[in-house]
Amino acid sequence: MSFDLVLFGGTGDLAWRKLLPALFQAFRHGTLPAGGRIIAIARDDHSDEQYRSLIRSRFEEVDLAKRPSAEEFERFAGLLHYLRLDASKPEDFERLARTVKERNADVAVVYLAVGPALFAPVCEQLAAHGLNTANTRIVLEKPLGHDLESNRAINETVRGAFGENQIFRIDHYLGKPSVQNLFALRFGNALFEPLWRRDTIASIEITIAEDLGVEKRGAFYDTTGALRDMVQNHALQLLCAIAMEPPINAHADAIRDEKLKVLRSLKAWTPPDLQQHVVRGQYAAGTIDGEHVPGYRDERGVDPQSTTETFVALRAEIASWRWAGVPFYIRTGKRLAGRDAHIVVNFRQTPHAIFNTPAGAANRLMISLQPRDGLQLHLLAQGQENRRNGHTLSPVHLDLDFDRRFGSERVGAYERLLLDVIDGRLNLFVRSDEQEEAWRWVEPILEWWANDENGPRPYAAGTWGPSASSAMIARDGYCWSEEL
Ligand code: NAP
Repeated sequence: MSFDLVLFGGTGDLAWRKLLPALFQAFRHGTLPAGGRIIAIARDDHSDEQYRSLIRSRFEEVDLAKRPSAEEFERFAGLLHYLRLDASKPEDFERLARTVKERNADVAVVYLAVGPALFAPVCEQLAAHGLNTANTRIVLEKPLGHDLESNRAINETVRGAFGENQIFRIDHYLGKPSVQNLFALRFGNALFEPLWRRDTIASIEITIAEDLGVEKRGAFYDTTGALRDMVQNHALQLLCAIAMEPPINAHADAIRDEKLKVLRSLKAWTPPDLQQHVVRGQYAAGTIDGEHVPGYRDERGVDPQSTTETFVALRAEIASWRWAGVPFYIRTGKRLAGRDAHIVVNFRQTPHAIFNTPAGAANRLMISLQPRDGLQLHLLAQGQENRRNGHTLSPVHLDLDFDRRFGSERVGAYERLLLDVIDGRLNLFVRSDEQEEAWRWVEPILEWWANDENGPRPYAAGTWGPSASSAMIARDGYCWSEEL
């Protein structure tokens, strides 16, 4: 199958850090269909050769294991082409149309790795130049708007040029092997389904923690914040994967229909809920890995008076027969104590205790998403030391390390997602109604913050966020996983 991948933003950070390395990995693994052509687009003037050497030098910064040898790069570089085009100039699309139509590949993928302000002009010009044929797929990167209204506006413009089944909205968390394993765990095994409900599950925690700060993206982050950057998309998609009903089959719309139902069932915010169940924080100076790091307001590109949140913790509830009354705690932030993304399913304690157990001990399923990819099932067992103590149980865990079991060279998120786009598989992409529902749910939080003069609570870099986050969860009698 021949394909053209038109990469708007071909010289940008996302292209060289994520997309081109992912395409190279697929090329190296032999999964990228032969007969492909990558047409990188930006406004600078480069010949194909100049672009290839630019990318060769960028690859020097990629992880060693993912870096091509000189010989591999030579072969991969044969796929790379460059076209100078200013997306805000309609006349520039003539050249693109000629280049794509001349070859008439089986599939054309247009990847918009540019700011969302360019989505509308690009889509309009693609349509005006006949580049929205049925075999064309368009890929949209986040952020898709900064609120419900702007998200709808983007979706409407894109849908003016492409059908919904041609639109691939990326949420790269869905491409992570660990998230696919979560679907496999829930819907490929009979074991957990009978337990996956309010009768047996006490609470669920979703944590996406980063130890990095805003790096070079301070100016972008300062207009975005953690709620828009992480909760509205990644965290809510993880919540959907954990809470959705079993879909009727593995087709994209069956899965997306079930995720949509979860988003629609999220309990609406009331003013007391917003006050008690949402914590926003902002990192102050602190220590990470023994090194002093500056506070958020001292980062380059950030307003010194900024009230942008770098941390959010919240408590959500799903109003459904399966989940009524089960709190879902979501937490994400920058400059936290570690890089760690996981979901913890906390089961209820036994209804009647015949053994002595450590205080609060109960079964727990920990799904690790990063840095490691695995599962831990925490059980209680009778260990050696109990000879003296009689019927006292100790916590033990079954530990499944997917990296070790399946090899750490597994398909990465962007590699998987790019191959899915080329193959036309929409399962791991987000439908517009899911996105809109997620925006509808987070908007009251944004509105409340806009009028709340208290601003975010400071936390020292290298900690787990403001103490109010622990207080929020403690009010329900629970704690975050690292506090156990
Ligand atoms: P970036 O480094 O600033 O790159 C932007 C790219 O777009 C450059 O190649 C730039 O090249 C090109 N471009 C800008 N204006 C253009 C125009 N009028 N016509 C044609 N090309 C134009 O940005 P980025 O970090 O790659 O991010 C791109 C988008 O992806 C943003 O919306 C970002 O929020 C999103 N995103 C980024 C990441 C990430 O890890 N970087 C992750 C998720 C989402 P010229 O200036 O030379 O034209």
